[in-house]
Amino acid sequence: MARERLYLFDTTLRDGAQTNGVDFTLADKLAIAGMLDELGVDYIEAGYPGANPIDTSFFSERRPMRARVTAFGMTRRPGRSASNDPGLVALLDAQADAICFVAKSWDYHVRIALETTGDENLASIRDSVRAAKAKGREVLIDCEHFFDGYKANPSYALACAKAAYDEGARWVVLCDTNGGTLPHEVEDIVGELCKAIPGDHVGIHAHNDTEQAVANSFAAIRAGARQIQGTLNGLGERCGNANLVSIIPTLKLKPEYADKFEINVSDDALGRIVRISHGLDELLNRAPDRHAPYVGESAFATKAGIHASAIVKEPKTYEHIAPERVGNKRKLLVSDQAGRSNVLAELVRIGLSLDKDDARVMRLLDEVKEREAVGYAYEAADASFELLARRMLGQVPHYFDVEKFDVNVEQRNNAKGQRVTVSQAVVKIKVGDEELISVAEGIGPVNALDLALRKDLGKYQSFITGLTLTDYRVRILNGGTQAVTRVLIESTDETGEHWRTVGVSANIIDASFQALMDSIVYKLMKSGAPT
Ligand SMILES: [Zn+2]
Repeated sequence: MARERLYLFDTTLRDGAQTNGVDFTLADKLAIAGMLDELGVDYIEAGYPGANPIDTSFFSERRPMRARVTAFGMTRRPGRSASNDPGLVALLDAQADAICFVAKSWDYHVRIALETTGDENLASIRDSVRAAKAKGREVLIDCEHFFDGYKANPSYALACAKAAYDEGARWVVLCDTNGGTLPHEVEDIVGELCKAIPGDHVGIHAHNDTEQAVANSFAAIRAGARQIQGTLNGLGERCGNANLVSIIPTLKLKPEYADKFEINVSDDALGRIVRISHGLDELLNRAPDRHAPYVGESAFATKAGIHASAIVKEPKTYEHIAPERVGNKRKLLVSDQAGRSNVLAELVRIGLSLDKDDARVMRLLDEVKEREAVGYAYEAADASFELLARRMLGQVPHYFDVEKFDVNVEQRNNAKGQRVTVSQAVVKIKVGDEELISVAEGIGPVNALDLALRKDLGKYQSFITGLTLTDYRVRILNGGTQAVTRVLIESTDETGEHWRTVGVSANIIDASFQALMDSIVYKLMKSGAPT
């Protein structure tokens, strides 16, 4: 059976740009548009030309893409002609393949916000569609507050949608602008609308205010709509828009949708969706959501021992899809609940295969349990786990010794008479027969220690130049009679690999030192530094 075509409309660069704390530069917008085009969405709504200089310059030239580049703006203002509305003129002049107009479809909003009549609003919709079509643009109409409008006055909401469709708009998009509509309501109302307008001209634009934007999008599809609007990682105003990163894998991997519908996202592109999702986070300088469906680091992570042994035998028993399909990885967490199978699976992951009856497996498990009891957390510190396992097998070379370190925090007046706090660290290292002493000042004692430690590693220095710390987290654990500090450090290097290390001590400097040392040794080991 031929599958029906379903269209994806991305508004990360327009609605997503409304997210609190998000400020896209033109370079960001171009980079994200490139990611979206690689993914295979059909439309990229890139902004609101005329509303701000960045969007205006985005649309000042053709941006060649596979996707249809779409400009967003308002229908003509009431009481003006289309040619006499500067906002509309700017929108029509934008270098875009398509124009998406936002139009009122709730009679209450027409009266209160637009301060005009229902008929004038309908005329404005018709005039705007006609003007954009005359310019050779594909036209979409976002019917703002459509669901609330339909509940209040179904015939008027329907008249707005019909006016756009009859005038030749390619798509009539039903917006749940305040995100308060529930899936069964969306399904009913879209079903009613599709009696008046064919579903392959109807789109859904859902917001996530009841955490059902994705569910609402699917409800609309079930009722006949054939375009889904959304954003990468669900970016958007307030609680965000429908998350295309969740919607796309569901459309491609769940038979209920995959058997019926075809989208422009290839299997290959689907396999890169983790990278695309995390790429956006990186651009926004945000940590990816570990628990995000499909793409989160924990999306295919299992903790308990009995589950882990079943997963190793037959992954399908516990996973709803194969993680590789979306470019994710299966992850078995090593923790104090874990059984032997967890440890074995982790060993396989790091490339060590031991027989399950090998005495060293039990020894490693005991060691992990003992250390976790005093505060170490190996499921959050993959690199420290690998070092622990390899040390037990005698596979971690001895690179250098830290003979001693000294960290000093001093508060004093500087030359200008200002009160300042200065941290300084001195580290004495022995590499082979060579003794090296490094001194560094830092923002705080841990930073000073890190800088001094990595300042001069002698013959190993060239192996750690690409090493950077990307995250440093401290937690005070209540370990009975005295508090214990756990430090988790995340590092990366020139290859883009990320790894995490852990240190535990009653002293925060000492805990940090352990985690820093593990990170450096891990980096030397994976770079194949000679001993
Ligand atoms: Zn919106």
